Amino acid sequence: MPTPYDAMWEKLNLDLDAHAGLLSVLGKFYGDIYLTQQGRLKGMEYLDFVLSEVHGLRIQELQEAKAQGKKVIGTFCVFVPEELVLAADGIQVGLCAGAEAGKGEAEKILPRNTCALIKSFVGFKLSRLCPYIESSDLIVGETTCDGKKKAYEIFSDYAPVYVMEIPQMKNACDRDLWKAELLRFKEKIEEITGNAITAPKLREAIRKVNDRRRVLQRLNRLRANVPTPISGRDVLLINQISFYDDPDRFTAKIGELCDELESRIKAGEGIVPKQTPRLMLSGCPMAVPNWKLPYVIESSGAVIVGEESCIGTRNIRDLVSERAETLEEMLDAIADRYLRIDCACFTPNTERLDHISEMAKELNVDGVIHFALSFCQPYTMEAFKVEKILKEAGVPMLSIETDYSMEDVEQLKTRVEAFVEMVRK
Ligand code: SF4
Ligand code: SF4
Repeated sequence: MPTPYDAMWEKLNLDLDAHAGLLSVLGKFYGDIYLTQQGRLKGMEYLDFVLSEVHGLRIQELQEAKAQGKKVIGTFCVFVPEELVLAADGIQVGLCAGAEAGKGEAEKILPRNTCALIKSFVGFKLSRLCPYIESSDLIVGETTCDGKKKAYEIFSDYAPVYVMEIPQMKNACDRDLWKAELLRFKEKIEEITGNAITAPKLREAIRKVNDRRRVLQRLNRLRANVPTPISGRDVLLINQISFYDDPDRFTAKIGELCDELESRIKAGEGIVPKQTPRLMLSGCPMAVPNWKLPYVIESSGAVIVGEESCIGTRNIRDLVSERAETLEEMLDAIADRYLRIDCACFTPNTERLDHISEMAKELNVDGVIHFALSFCQPYTMEAFKVEKILKEAGVPMLSIETDYSMEDVEQLKTRVEAFVEMVRK
């Protein structure tokens, strides 16, 4: 069926038939997983709308901004400092890489035993399925894992790619390297946008990104109540959308949703009964539309009350200090904040273990589900350490390795149901 966006998608050189197929699968998947939930908050209507327009209205907005000379920067990792992009009047979007479409094309140029996230972004490009990739004036990669590092080399044959080097340790020399990378990135963004990053512009951008983090922190505090007032699936969706929606609009809308949550909490209402087992997810990020595991968990009689992930707490826990006055001080504040990210690419990575046990305790969870994409070495390896630390804290953990396919849903359901029964008080 023709849509008002066909001409725009055609201009972006999408494969219109394959793209229509993707949207219809996405719509059906969304309907089954999200719209069937009972007692959702009114504020979720905004998120439903944004998701229904994920390839429509938001792309149109990006095209309009581009027509006025703005540049769009696509990213795959929370290490890329959005503050610098915004300060240069650019727009940063997270490229989802959460679907299997395009896998066949990706496997023509990548080994089969590559994680689903990498296959997804390469596959989306090769199959001409993603209007965000096609709208990006620059795609910023990072050296967080070997798979990504090598995939960006291949990807750069198809799209304009720039790679930031992320240190592997957190010693003084690593901090120096990271600061130098920030400066190199600043220059690149200034060159692409044609705009100089000044102290007032950067101060404003820091506040804007912090405001978005603050509202998501508020959401996390509210959802921690008993009974849980919002499903984990809905919070995951909010986090996912935070990567591509307009930051000011998103912050305002989630603020309204938090007000609604507060009234729900005051009325003692929950999305699930009080005694529902509370679980936390930990591990690899889950990009849109990777909703498989959260759906399996929440349809197995548990509720997710926290995500220790880059599409979750890891991305919003720390703010950039707003005390800095000069440009140099602000860049230092950005460098310090980003180096606190506890991605499994670091060695050693004891901060992550500490954060996981703190979160499990604060959220009073009955168990943790550790999620890693198959073939993701950093997270599958770290799962053993996470299990050990949680065992010491008396918190049971289930380790799941999976990809974006639907083949293992029944098997996952059996394992998750058994875990939920085990942790039920
Ligand atoms: S898990 Fe690591 S590589 Fe992935 S988005 Fe987070 S910081 Fe980046
Ligand atoms: S999921 Fe793991 S292997 Fe895949 S890109 Fe992220 S860190 Fe690398």
